[in-house]
Amino acid sequence: MENTDDQRFNSGSDESIENDSKSFFENLKKEIEEGNDDSMDPVNASLSPDYPRITTIYSKWYTRTCLVCGLKFRENDIVRLCPKCNKAYHDDDQYNLHCWQKHFANKNVCTKPGYDLIDEVYRSGCSYELPDSFDNQQKIENESERIERVSEQFLQGLKSMWKAFGDKNVIEVKAADTHIIGLKCPWCRFSIRIGDRVVKCPCNKCNTYFHNDIFRHLECWNDWNGTKGNDFCPTSGAKIEKN
Ligand SMILES: [Zn+2]
Ligand SMILES: [Zn+2]
Ligand SMILES: [Zn+2]
Ligand SMILES: [Zn+2]
Repeated sequence: MENTDDQRFNSGSDESIENDSKSFFENLKKEIEEGNDDSMDPVNASLSPDYPRITTIYSKWYTRTCLVCGLKFRENDIVRLCPKCNKAYHDDDQYNLHCWQKHFANKNVCTKPGYDLIDEVYRSGCSYELPDSFDNQQKIENESERIERVSEQFLQGLKSMWKAFGDKNVIEVKAADTHIIGLKCPWCRFSIRIGDRVVKCPCNKCNTYFHNDIFRHLECWNDWNGTKGNDFCPTSGAKIEKN
């Protein structure tokens, strides 16, 4: 019986042994990587595959672009991850972004194989498709529900305490503000969305808006002004007098 190992090795072709050890190391590498991700992003660690995630600044997909809607993933965006390749897709009622459902409708796979023009490599794609058993209804409480549970009084106090630098007027972006929606905030570079609270650049010559939204953790206007030397319009470069 001392030849057992030799017999096992001889029974398979060299190629299949090579493939076995290759997939073993690939799986090992994946597990180590996922372990690291979990320890980096504890809020989203060890959740079941069909459970939604809340984007944190530690999430691997944070600031990456959602392939469905083209927006970058921001803090508190609710997403679902492909159980096979961990690609993130929005599923966020707050912004009416249901990229997950949209993408996987009609038995679409996660990503088709093809040539990646940006990285100039061939990608094998991800064959994951949504099983009929997938529970799309699992929700986590979203930001607005979370805020509702905080007393209105406290919020009012916070709003009046949280002054925009220079006492600038803070606008809550509405669906009708099409001249603001989609503009890039010059500080965080994220697109401005409906419901974001913003401050207009005081130079009065540009069409630039900064976030000033404590509820969405985007305090860009105050951060911009808190940085030495930022006394100019980020778009035109014109000097702004600070009072
Ligand atoms: Zn999306
Ligand atoms: Zn995938
Ligand atoms: Zn911003
Ligand atoms: Zn300006």
